[in-house]
Amino acid sequence: MSIKEVAGNNTSDLTEMNRSAIVRILQQKEICTRAEIAKIMGLTQASITKLVAYLIDMGIVSEVGIVKGNGNRRSIGIRLNAEQNLVIGIKFSRHVFAIGVFDISGKDYRQQETEFSLDDDPAEVLKDMKHQVNELLKEFPKVVAIGLAVPGPYLRKEGHIAMVTRMHSWQYVNFVEEFKDAFDKPVFIEQDANAGALAEWWFGNHNRPLNSLAYFLVGEGVGSGIVDHDRLLLGNLGIASEIGHISIDYKGPVCECGNRGCLELYCSTSAFLTRAEIELPELFNKSYENRQEACTRVFDAARNGDIKAKKLIEEIAKYIGYGCVTLINAYDPEEIVIGDSMAAAGDLLLPTINEIVKSRILPAIGSRVKIEISKLSFDPTLYGAAAIATDRVLRKPSEYLAK
Ligand SMILES: [Zn+2]
Repeated sequence: MSIKEVAGNNTSDLTEMNRSAIVRILQQKEICTRAEIAKIMGLTQASITKLVAYLIDMGIVSEVGIVKGNGNRRSIGIRLNAEQNLVIGIKFSRHVFAIGVFDISGKDYRQQETEFSLDDDPAEVLKDMKHQVNELLKEFPKVVAIGLAVPGPYLRKEGHIAMVTRMHSWQYVNFVEEFKDAFDKPVFIEQDANAGALAEWWFGNHNRPLNSLAYFLVGEGVGSGIVDHDRLLLGNLGIASEIGHISIDYKGPVCECGNRGCLELYCSTSAFLTRAEIELPELFNKSYENRQEACTRVFDAARNGDIKAKKLIEEIAKYIGYGCVTLINAYDPEEIVIGDSMAAAGDLLLPTINEIVKSRILPAIGSRVKIEISKLSFDPTLYGAAAIATDRVLRKPSEYLAK
């Protein structure tokens, strides 16, 4: 066992962890009294008073007057100064990069999108992206950190995307190198499905306490991100829970990853549209502007009673259901949230997904997992990029939050 694996915490680390716990509670609950925080954290009120005093001095939290506390006692409420701490989220995907400015409670201030072609030189695309971020940093001086969401599988220690279907020139871009000194604010990078999981964790409206959440990204790519007991599950290289490349047919078609019959080959937007264009040619006699619009065309047809469209979506839903079965068996999530392009089929997917899970998972387990479609107000990956930054700054409030 290496020394690093058994490293301890200094008293100052423990103090910072407790400060972080307070700001994370306030990020979720908006206003709390010192007594409520003490109860949630299992610490004495004297300790909380000391920790809160520091956070007030630092301008990270503030008092909001008298609120009703425990047992109807009137106490002073504490809130997080979220509007003093903004984050920039950058979503980088196959044809588009989006940049958004949010605060650490998830409130949005600005969103902009830039399309690019896969033939464009990655260096030029990155130059444009950095220029736009620099302009936003001038306009929003309260930004404390930047989060970047990239397609997976992303080797987070090395900074490379290991493989992205149809995006080969981007495989050689080292995102860590590109962004480590790009701005005078820290940049944190995660893969898109992990970003979605963090968006649900920090900005989603879920019942709390929540032990474990799986975000199931079903779009141009298929992947998942897991937050387990307040921590993103990363694995060794950062590619844990790469569910899109789990084989559902070991004799199936060869995938770019080297495996056969990968889940991604059956339920990604690509797989769906390839089948839709063959099975429902009448829907595609008019060209479409983008792939999301093409998907919507099929979803709308199904909602208007087109039997073939409905059947195709149900078949894709079965594959998403198999993915949920694997997620449950592998990660034991309390909730599975389905997001990205295919999630727009929402109500058309859920009955089949639930049926598959019910028939393939022990009732004692399956009945306790809630499967739902993402209800986030913004694109989960862009929102997730902001959540990546939010997650990091809330864990070290003294280092990153406003002074
Ligand atoms: Zn694969």
